[in-house]
Amino acid sequence: MTYEDLNGKVVLVTGASRGIGRAIAIEFARYGAKVVANYSSSEEKAMELKRAQPGIEVFKADVSKREEVKKMVNAIASSIGRVDVLVNNAGMLWLSPFEEFDEQQFERMWNVNFMGAVYVTLEALPHMKKNGGSIINIASNAGIGTAAYGTTFYAITKAALIMLTKRLAFELGRYKIRVNAIAPGWTETDMTIGGRSPEEIMQLESSFRNRSELGDVGTPEDVARLAVYLGSDYSRFMTGQVIVIDGGRIDNLTHSV
Ligand code: NAP
Repeated sequence: MTYEDLNGKVVLVTGASRGIGRAIAIEFARYGAKVVANYSSSEEKAMELKRAQPGIEVFKADVSKREEVKKMVNAIASSIGRVDVLVNNAGMLWLSPFEEFDEQQFERMWNVNFMGAVYVTLEALPHMKKNGGSIINIASNAGIGTAAYGTTFYAITKAALIMLTKRLAFELGRYKIRVNAIAPGWTETDMTIGGRSPEEIMQLESSFRNRSELGDVGTPEDVARLAVYLGSDYSRFMTGQVIVIDGGRIDNLTHSV
């Protein structure tokens, strides 16, 4: 596919300094989109991304802080004038069994994973409503239900994002704004392998390979290619959908053996 309609479109990707968001930013830019790659703390990595791929601008903002989000979107509006595609990707993972609930950790994760998407969408919408567009929320297969250890509270933030996707599709169709979610499975990024030894990574990887019908794990580029499809007019008749990209996980709680 050539995705010629993306040429010149303005794409805002949150949490794009690393991992899945970085791959999404690069993939959109490869098709000629003007990409604003948001980050919150990984300054060096954000600058490296800007150098790596022409067509990418970087912007620092913590998506869980509405004032910072407002400044970012205002800056995009005054310098570029429009937002065509919004990818709500910024996220964090705090693993905990239910009985070890920690209010502060949960609040932080909720504020980034869910409220971050709410704030960025609220600020971007007035600009998107003028020309229509596409919103892509990066949820997780956890938000649909898997047996992965310690993901109860994380899954709740992603289930909320999935419901937001469906409700927004309902409210925004009249403005020709499509809203879809991607629900990736285990994908190799800092979130899953950061700070682990090579042995631990091998073990983890093989446990997730064994849970996949395809016997493999995901890469950020797998998710990025799907995001580009959802951002382009090739998916013009799709909205309100949640697309799982996890190699066919067999520990999905909703269809357990
Ligand atoms: P990652 O490698 O840990 O990267 C997370 C990204 O989010 C970083 O660029 C980080 O930027 C950014 N971020 C974190 N907090 C932020 C905040 N408050 N404001 C703005 N940006 C913030 O994670 P990843 O694996 O790429 O995950 C990307 C998304 O995919 C997340 O929503 C995650 O839940 C989802 N997901 C991941 C997997 C997986 O297996 N990896 C599976 C399903 C879903 P800074 O470093 O600059 O703070």
